[in-house]
Amino acid sequence: MKILAAQPIRRQVLVSACLLLLPIVIGAAWSANRTRLERRAEVQAEAASITATSVAYFDRYLHGLDSMASVLVRHPAVIALNREECNRLFAGVLRDQPLVLNVVLRAPDGTLQGSGLQARDVVSQSVTVPYVQQVVASGQPVVSDLIIGPVSHKPTVVLAYPVRAAGGSIVGVLDFGIDLSQLQTLFGSLPLAEGSVITLTDRRGLVLARSREADRFIGTTMAAAAPTEPGATPRASAGKDIDGVDRLFASAVVGRGAWVMTVGIPRSVVEARLWPLWQRDLAISAIAVLVPLFFWLWMGGRLSRQLNHLRGAAQRIAQGDLSPPARVAEVLNRELGDLQDAFVSMAQNLAHTREALDRQVEQERKMRETLESLQRQVVRQERLAAVGVLVSGVAHELNNPLQAILGASELLERRRDLSSEALLDIAFVKTQSARAREIIRNLARFSSQQAGPPTSVDLRDVIAEVVQLRRANLAAADIVLDVQASSTRNVYANFTELEQVVLNFVINAQQAIQAAGSPQGRMVIRLSDVGQRVRLEVVDNGPGVSPANEPKLFQPFFTTKPVGEGTGLGLSVSYGIVESYGGAIGYHGNESGGATFFFELPATDSQRQTAPQVRTAVTAR
Ligand code: ADP
Repeated sequence: MKILAAQPIRRQVLVSACLLLLPIVIGAAWSANRTRLERRAEVQAEAASITATSVAYFDRYLHGLDSMASVLVRHPAVIALNREECNRLFAGVLRDQPLVLNVVLRAPDGTLQGSGLQARDVVSQSVTVPYVQQVVASGQPVVSDLIIGPVSHKPTVVLAYPVRAAGGSIVGVLDFGIDLSQLQTLFGSLPLAEGSVITLTDRRGLVLARSREADRFIGTTMAAAAPTEPGATPRASAGKDIDGVDRLFASAVVGRGAWVMTVGIPRSVVEARLWPLWQRDLAISAIAVLVPLFFWLWMGGRLSRQLNHLRGAAQRIAQGDLSPPARVAEVLNRELGDLQDAFVSMAQNLAHTREALDRQVEQERKMRETLESLQRQVVRQERLAAVGVLVSGVAHELNNPLQAILGASELLERRRDLSSEALLDIAFVKTQSARAREIIRNLARFSSQQAGPPTSVDLRDVIAEVVQLRRANLAAADIVLDVQASSTRNVYANFTELEQVVLNFVINAQQAIQAAGSPQGRMVIRLSDVGQRVRLEVVDNGPGVSPANEPKLFQPFFTTKPVGEGTGLGLSVSYGIVESYGGAIGYHGNESGGATFFFELPATDSQRQTAPQVRTAVTAR
């Protein structure tokens, strides 16, 4: 299993399928071999059975010949060695016995005394015939070796019998020559498998008859199986036949003739009979192996595809894409379905968690920026406070000499001895000193640290102060300022704070006009009554505010100005001031395309006599 651990699923399936299928393959091979051995044994049994049957029939036939011979040897014509009579008699026998080549009668000295076949060229004189001598010597029937028939001139083996006279002496030898070629025809007619052969040999292995290619092999020696006893079960063997063909043999002894009959069936018959069985076995094994293999591979492929899908989704998640993976419609099994569901919900949870984290990080970033801005603001405020202290000190110090200059100028004015030119100069010194005193007073008031308690304020005074402060600057920027004050009602607030709000409106308007590069810069400060409120508007013909920026105008630190120019605090501080006095502050575009910033405060005659709200430095919206 360790081998499989690091492999892809398809290979795992393949390897485990091979491991599981190995026993099937081994079993199929074992079965094929068993079948081969069984078929071989079957063919050998078939050969043995044919051998046993053939031997039994042949043996019986030879015994039949023995019986016939025992009748013939008692025939008077035979005992009398009457040639004419014998020839006729034997010819009749030959007609009835197709397997007998010839019936011959010889005198004990070997001379031919009668023949079933017509004996033309046979010399009627004494010849040495070995089997005749054996019969005469033993007085018993004898079976000859393979000889060439003296009359038929064909190869034959002879069954020889003694012919006795009435006294028992041997007067002749009767022999039956077996027609080997007929025997071969008989063998050939037996229903044997293609290529099979029946061979008859004598005990020395000399071929007497053969069902195939007899002419070629009769008289040659065949390495026959070791002879068995007559009537014993045929002996099986295998090997090359004399014609070179591989055969399975069964041999048995023909008892009467003392010959060996061998039936040989070619080995190829075994293979030919095996082949259909092997084909069937092969087909079954192939189906048994391939069907599960393909099924497992198919399952493995689907499983692998679905796991790859999940792996791809996991990799996407690892790379930061938390979108939930697409669901596979047809999952392989319930476990994979559950895994997919768990995976999808895990991805969704991760996405939600990351969104929450992103939100938190964003909030923390904004808080950090706010904190840093507030820190900068505090530093700036402290610096402004220091400047304020300095300015009020300088103003106080300058005020005394200016008072002295003014006092001295007035005293000089009263002198009678001065020329009109000198009086004019003194008047100029007086007005300029008065102007300087006024500027110093404003500076001292504006830089004051404490806004001081609210009082009833005339907004026209506030406007005058602001105009006084910005007049020269606006003129330098070629901006025409128009003041339209139709309200005479007071509001309840701190003068300096309202001055800060209006000054901020005016500076913003001037910067917007200048940034847009408008040739005809125009600004109107309008004061009017709106019901129980007094409304102050600063109208300009600058570029106005884009709709996208409108909602952010009064947020702290919102600015569109370059770094160093804008802090984004002016409007938010103004918002806080106006709100703290129960007023409203706002913006709208105007017909010239520019901006109108305004605030409204309750008029003092309509104001509730309640204490003003506590104001915070920055009021977030
Ligand atoms: P700052 O002037 O430091 O930018 P403010 O709070 O006074 O801060 O103004 C915020 C922003 O409002 C400005 O940066 C500008 O974009 C816009 N704004 C204010 N007044 C005007 C105006 N009159 N015309 C066009 N835009 C304006």
